[in-house]
Formats: sequence, C-alpha cells, structure tokens
Amino acid sequence: MLKIDGVTRRFGDVTALDNVSLEIEQGEFFALLGPSGCGKTTLLRILAGFETPDDGTVTLDGDDLLSMPPNRRPINLMFQSYALFPHMSVAKNIAYGLQQDKLGRAEIKQRVDEVLETVGLAEMAGRKPSQLSGGQRQRVALARAIVKRPRLLLLDEPLSALDKKVRAGMQLELKRLQHEVGITFVVVTHDQEEAMSLADRIAVFEKGRVRQVDEPVTLYERPRTPFVADFVGANNLFEGTAVPGGLDVPQLGVLPGEGTELAGVTALLAIRPENVRLADRGLLGTVMDVSFYGGISHIAVTVEGRDKPVLVAQQGAAKVEVGAQVRLGWDREDAVLIQ
Ligand code: ATP
Repeated sequence: MLKIDGVTRRFGDVTALDNVSLEIEQGEFFALLGPSGCGKTTLLRILAGFETPDDGTVTLDGDDLLSMPPNRRPINLMFQSYALFPHMSVAKNIAYGLQQDKLGRAEIKQRVDEVLETVGLAEMAGRKPSQLSGGQRQRVALARAIVKRPRLLLLDEPLSALDKKVRAGMQLELKRLQHEVGITFVVVTHDQEEAMSLADRIAVFEKGRVRQVDEPVTLYERPRTPFVADFVGANNLFEGTAVPGGLDVPQLGVLPGEGTELAGVTALLAIRPENVRLADRGLLGTVMDVSFYGGISHIAVTVEGRDKPVLVAQQGAAKVEVGAQVRLGWDREDAVLIQ
C-alpha cells in the first residue's frame, strides 16, 4: 500500500535518512523504532508532507505521494502533544476538521457520535479538554485523527505523555481501535516494549538507516545485527569464532548458540538476560550485584576475561548473595549468533 523507495534526507552534513526503503501493507500497524536522532520523525514528516526528501520516491496505492500538497494527502498525523483546542468541547474538537472540509451538519454529527463511541468517550462529549485525564485527552486526539477516515494515520510517540499505568491500558486500546477502524497506522517510538506490544511489524532504525524489518517475535528472538540485539534487550553479547553448535570465545571456550551457517567466521553471540539461568554447569562467574524490581530480579555476574558483567533476569526475588560463585547456563536455541 505504502511504498517508500530509496528515501534520503540530509540537513547540512547530517544524513537524517540514508536510502530508506520500506513497504507497508494495507491495514498494518507498523512501528518505526530507534534511538533519538535516528531519523524516524524525519520520515514521518516526509510522509505527512512537512518535509521533502533529497532523493527517493513514496507512493500510496501507486499514487505519487510527494507531489501531493500536505492537505490533499489521505493521511493524518497525531502529534506527541495532542494540541486540542482548550476552549472547545470534546465533540467540537473532533468535529473541527470535518467542518473545515465543509461536510453537512447531520453527517458531522453522525460521524462524531460514531467515533466518540469507538474511543469510549460518548459520555464526555460536552467536556472541555481541561476536564479530562491524560488518557482521555489522548483518546480525543485519536478520535480527531480518525474521524476524517484517512487511509494512513501517522502517530508520533503517541503514548509518551502518559504515565506508565495509563500507557499500558492505552496500548491495548490503540491496538483494538486500529483493528476496528482498519486504518493503516505508522507509529514512531523509541520505546522497544511499546513497539513490540503495538505493532504487527517493526522497522529498527540506526543513524538514518533501516537495520531490520520483522514481526516483533522474530526481532526479539532473531536480531540480525549487534545494534538490533542490544536495542531489543538481548544485551549479553560475546565475541568469538562461530563453530558448530555455538561460539568459541577466547578464555571461555565454546558457548552454546544457534547459527551454524556462520561457522568459521568472527561473530557475536546474543543471549537475553531472562534466558540465562544459574545452573550446575556452564560459565563460571562471581555475583557482583543483585537488584529487585518487583516482579523480577536482575543479577549481574562478572566472568573472567569480560569487561561487562553477564546479566541474568529471574522471576521473583533472587536467592543469591553478592560475592557468590555461580555457573551460568542457557538453552542453545535461546542464544543467537550474529555477524
Ligand atoms: P527523536 O526521537 O529525538 O525525535 P528522531 O529519530 O525522530 O529523534 P529526527 O528528528 O528524524 O530523529 O532527526 C534525525 C537527524 O536529523 C538528527 O540528527 C537531527 O538533529 C537532524 N535534523 C532533523 N531535522 C532537522 C532540521 N530541520 N535541521 C537540521 N537538522 C535536523
């Protein structure tokens, strides 16, 4: 549906987007994920028409998007700050765009009522934004964005203004809504968990380039570059030589891992903290720190020949003391070799 091909955008000597190509399907919930400054907002602004690329093409259902003025694009953008009109009621805020388009009164009313129902705010239609909670305001912004029935909705860090509890609820809500209205959503976020919980597919950006495009589970289990592995939290990385059955690491021997096709080459082994366990056999190390985070504990273990400790995540409170000698093990299929 949306085809981005070879898009490049430079600002002076900064290349914000470097030859980016992506294809996004009709009805898909797609996330652009990456650290601050990697170019995701620039791409969103290009789609919305606030920014022009130096190179590349973008088509929507085969039509050249870049030659269309922003207000003619069948696209809506929901900003980080919701920018609601403070003096207007919820219903008026939502109706505003339709009035600008000169739709008839009856149709506006019907569409506003319908969308209020969809976002669960039918009872709040008469309130002013200041009389709403953060989560409710967020829903008004969403309602306003979908009431015009765009083919594509762009969301820039849509949940970042909400506190943690409200955010979790809104994530579910956003997903349900997207399925219900069937509009293609492209969301920009730097929050790995948010992208995973929302999106059907995720494109991971690093320094203006797309490093991997995959479904959340694939990204999580099979990161293809060290950057992606680190970004999605598989942050125990070992360097060595790939051998059948794993990675041969200087001083540590062969660590179990998947990736036989790399045999003989220098590679990294990535293993997620929650897949490492204290075992009877395996890597020998010393517990350096134990932290408890409510549901889980993090144990940092120093291993000879490594600068960074190996992180172990465990359910509940860890029953191990700082200074204890432990062995670390994991299942071969949980560790992935990458180049
Ligand atoms: P964030 O999550 O912090 O918003 P981002 O991944 O969305 O970051 P962009 O805003 O797309 O990143 O910026 C990408 C790069 O381009 C950055 O280095 C930024 O400083 C630069 N940049 C963006 N817009 C401009 C501009 N108008 N003029 C100059 N440089 C810009």
